[in-house]
Amino acid sequence: LVDLERACFGFRRRTILDDVSLTVERGESVAVVGPSGSGKSTLAAVVATLLRLQSGELRIDGQDVLALRSARLAAFRRATVGVIFQHAELVPTMTALENVALPALLDGADRATAEGRARRLLDEVQLSETDTPAGDLSGGEAQRVGIARALVNAPALVVADEPTASLDGPTKAVVADLLYSRLEAHGAGLLIVSHDVAVASRADRVLRLEGGRLTAQLAEVH
Ligand code: ATP
Ligand code: MG
Repeated sequence: LVDLERACFGFRRRTILDDVSLTVERGESVAVVGPSGSGKSTLAAVVATLLRLQSGELRIDGQDVLALRSARLAAFRRATVGVIFQHAELVPTMTALENVALPALLDGADRATAEGRARRLLDEVQLSETDTPAGDLSGGEAQRVGIARALVNAPALVVADEPTASLDGPTKAVVADLLYSRLEAHGAGLLIVSHDVAVASRADRVLRLEGGRLTAQLAEVH
């Protein structure tokens, strides 16, 4: 599903990702752990096609991502990749339902279809406050909306950057449970970046990033 080869990325002259190669198979979950500043968020943004590689190759779902120009890349990303951020990054003035429906509308679904899908997904993440403005939701509720939004266009891949880092202990566990169980239910592959070992260790494989280089595969569960 994801084939990242010899990826390099830097900001100005500084190398952030140094020759990183990884794969994610269909339906597989891969976690990346590592110290602060090691490049985890940068790697997540590269795989989510939000940052463009400076050298190396990236194929997602058979598509050579670097060959796509910006408009086609945006359309490809909407259809193929769901993204979950540390802070859910919802539109605060829109309701939970509208936030989840939005990527479906942008992808060309009509309103009834988009809202129907959004309602089903919010039901799956057990969020009943569908008409509450997103800005009024708690952190855990917002992140559940973030999971639903990431899945609304039935992406083959979800990229999650520290999805539980800003939540308290019990809420972390609830959100991690929902994330893994919903992704499995939808058959989506997952690349998750987290310094929370309890969350990362539930992935099928755990990789370690240090100073922009993948240094170890810590576990292979399946
Ligand atoms: P954390 O665990 O704290 O989230 P991280 O592993 O996600 O850290 P990144 O956010 O990927 O690390 O950052 C890696 C390095 O890249 C850091 O040294 C950071 O200062 C640098 N960096 C990140 N974004 C930029 C930017 N926009 N411009 C310049 N340098 C940046
Ligand atoms: Mg980070």
